[in-house]
Amino acid sequence: MKKITIIGGGASGSLLAANLLRHNKDETLTINLVEKKDRIGRGVAYSTTRDCHLLNVPASKMGAFPEDVEHFYKWLQEKNYAYQPNEFVPRKIYGEYLREVVCSTIVNKAPNVQINIIDDEAVDIALDEQQAQTILKSGEILFSDQVVLAFGNFLPPDPTVENQAFAHSEKYFRNPWNSEFYEKIKADEDVLIVGTGLTMVDVVLNLHASGHRGKIYALSTRGLLPAVHQLGHVYPSFYDELQTQTRITDILKIVRRHIKKAEAEGGNWRGVIDSLRPHTQEIWRNLPDAEKRYFMQHLSRYWNAARHRMPPEAAQILAEMQSRGALEITKGRLRKIEANENGKFDVSYTADGAENQLSIDAIINSIGSQSNFRKLDAPLLVNLLASGTINTDSLRLGLDALPDGRTLNKIGSISQKIFTLGTALKGILWESTAMPEIRVQANRLALDLLEQQSN
Ligand SMILES: Cc1cc2nc3c(=O)[nH]c(=O)nc-3n(C[C@H](O)[C@H](O)[C@H](O)COP(=O)(O)OP(=O)(O)OC[C@H]3O[C@@H](n4cnc5c(N)ncnc54)[C@H](O)[C@@H]3O)c2cc1C
Repeated sequence: MKKITIIGGGASGSLLAANLLRHNKDETLTINLVEKKDRIGRGVAYSTTRDCHLLNVPASKMGAFPEDVEHFYKWLQEKNYAYQPNEFVPRKIYGEYLREVVCSTIVNKAPNVQINIIDDEAVDIALDEQQAQTILKSGEILFSDQVVLAFGNFLPPDPTVENQAFAHSEKYFRNPWNSEFYEKIKADEDVLIVGTGLTMVDVVLNLHASGHRGKIYALSTRGLLPAVHQLGHVYPSFYDELQTQTRITDILKIVRRHIKKAEAEGGNWRGVIDSLRPHTQEIWRNLPDAEKRYFMQHLSRYWNAARHRMPPEAAQILAEMQSRGALEITKGRLRKIEANENGKFDVSYTADGAENQLSIDAIINSIGSQSNFRKLDAPLLVNLLASGTINTDSLRLGLDALPDGRTLNKIGSISQKIFTLGTALKGILWESTAMPEIRVQANRLALDLLEQQSN
């Protein structure tokens, strides 16, 4: 009899459970799926209730299973949703889909499999020779052969300024994914969004949909907006030129040459970037740490803007707001945020060497999930890092692990009991946070776990 505990029931944890259910053959299997709230399947990304929050991948590519990438699109048709394969569907519908995928695998499960969905938070894991004990906040202990860390996205770090007291203010919102804060922002208030990536786009779209009249500022060190999707640009793979490259500047030269070629042939840089997707993990893994660091420091923001694109309908709204002065995207470095006695924030930032001031009513943190797990106060991470059961990767982008999800402890030993997938593998694989990668990992990890001998 095998027992597997999965910590986190967002897309990664839920799909892993679904794959365990569908792949298990003869062995008696118990799965514990631990998730804090009513988030099974939805997690952080797909719990939104807002129609304006769209997927950033077209419907025909968002299927939950690697052998059927159109599964989501077929589901939309079955449900009579009138979306085309290349459309960007509201994320709340995708959350509905993932929940249904999980529920239907549970309903159709074999009698030798049991799944317990546990509404709790895992706070620690103790290992002995035989098994892993997952300790829950309620005090309950789950005994299992293997544990999978599927904890996904954590809250962003606070913006770094001289005085961090602003972070306690009622009008500073650290969690950009919890839609409840919108009720606390009045329509005529001036808002500062820290960050100019896809989360900022979500926030602006939401304010726009609710008829916000106050000025919206969005600020980041490079002021880069996500590029806009233009579907249909395909470019042949040139991975054979990249696979032996171990220097970022050489890779960049090759990629630029192909972009020029694509454009000369009437194509587009998007096709070139997309042609790298199946190979990004291999390219990353070939790089020495110093090159990865160089990339993080000098290029990652440009890569993110080019790779994580927004749907054209979102871009149109943003452009319209920018043209009438309702939205200002600024390149600058925050220096000071002080909450004053009038209930406002005095914000200063430097841009092109000049100091600028803003008077702001509300601040929304859209910096992006904290990836340095050593800076988190989540009890599970704090305890597992303190005991050396897990370790962060050398770039502190996630956990130290093998590409297949086996984690490494503080002294570099490979764990036979603790595994991970998704965002926690970002430092090891770089491209590991979106559904096209997660569905592959969830499927493969399920097969690997089922293959391992139980105690
Ligand atoms: C706003 C947003 C939009 C996105 N849009 C897209 C998109 O359009 N397309 C795409 O492919 N990708 C998108 N992504 C990427 C996204 O990360 C993945 O698609 C996917 O949702 C990640 O799922 P996850 O389960 O790994 O993480 P999460 O969704 O973060 O789920 C992890 C879950 O673990 C739970 N958890 C954490 N710690 C514990 C604990 N100690 N005990 C119990 N439970 C715990 C949390 O409650 C959480 O629900 C988006 C990401 C974000 C943040």
